Amino acid sequence: NDDKKKLGWAVVGLGKFATEQIMPNFKDCKHSKLVALVSGTPDKAKKLAKEYGIDEKSVYDYQNFDSIKDNPAVDIVYIILPNSMHAEYTIRAAQAGKHVLCEKPMATSEEDCKKMIDACNKAGKKLMIAYRAQYEPYNLDAIARIKKGELGKIKFITADHGRHVKPTEDKADVWRVQKKLAGGGSLMDIGIYSLNAARYLTGEEPVEVTAQIYSDPNDPRFKEVEDNVAFTLRFPSGALACCTSSYSYQSVKRGRIFGEKAWLDLDPISDYYEHNMKIGKEDGEMEPKIQEGNQFAAEMDHMSESVMQNKTPRTPGEEGLRDVRYMMAIYEAAKKGKSVKV
Ligand code: NDP
Repeated sequence: NDDKKKLGWAVVGLGKFATEQIMPNFKDCKHSKLVALVSGTPDKAKKLAKEYGIDEKSVYDYQNFDSIKDNPAVDIVYIILPNSMHAEYTIRAAQAGKHVLCEKPMATSEEDCKKMIDACNKAGKKLMIAYRAQYEPYNLDAIARIKKGELGKIKFITADHGRHVKPTEDKADVWRVQKKLAGGGSLMDIGIYSLNAARYLTGEEPVEVTAQIYSDPNDPRFKEVEDNVAFTLRFPSGALACCTSSYSYQSVKRGRIFGEKAWLDLDPISDYYEHNMKIGKEDGEMEPKIQEGNQFAAEMDHMSESVMQNKTPRTPGEEGLRDVRYMMAIYEAAKKGKSVKV
């Protein structure tokens, strides 16, 4: 029976991303199966449990969630709640003896990230942050090409992530414009993809950041969280990254790496199902075709395998903490109008 090689997962928060992307993609997992749900909306949870063949006894709400400790079928808990709730549910899951995969951004403060890491360490449980792009074939291929030296010395990265946030039309955007739940605006939600990409593509940690932020003061969406962010990162090798994030420009998710010998374009760099790569060299341009893969299944299986083999996941809590620390430095640099050393 194939199912014997699979660990049991609980999904916490049955919103747009959980129901449209994560839950349907367990079907492609080799080592992960969905066995429990946690939700504050009983009717929705009941309906989804039926659809996914989950026992009603394995459906929890936010009050009785801690009793998941008595459910031996659940090995891993996947937190897909609004950002500021990640910390509480990660800590409660660890205390219930479960391993945790947590959505990005890891939390809304460095302090919360550290508490999450400590709670998982104390419980002897794995903690991974869901940086799906780091499990996606086009991005992995780009990282390999850079490591091999195909682009030569890396000089620049540009990365842009924007879309229209629509709190009056899309329920999933309601909490995104509330500081208490989101922690911040476009930077915390999608600018983090630009930031994380600049780090995994260079393989370096930034040493200095600068930033400017602008939000239309008359736009009611941006009373609590920021709209447009432009930030730069300087890496120890001398490579620079120029990144943008926005909640008000036409949808873009792209990155370009400028090397001494070649540039490499990923557009989109962080889509769910489709990617494109273009490489420009002195003798012309090429578009390598790479086999698309199910990044969601790859990511979840990496977590399951990390648990089965008792290994630290490739994107552990410490990876999430670094991005939160750099995002706080970006906010600080914008506020002070001065570069910030990190
Ligand atoms: P949604 O609003 O669609 O889902 C969040 C769910 O959390 C809700 O449906 C609800 O589920 C639960 N919830 C509990 N308390 C609240 C509250 N006070 N307000 C709103 N929801 C609450 O958001 P998304 O699915 O878009 O995002 C969820 C998380 O996933 C975020 O951290 C986001 O950054 C991340 N995400 C990651 C993506 C990626 O590509 N890696 C893409 C999209 C999102 P219920 O009714 O079951 O209780």
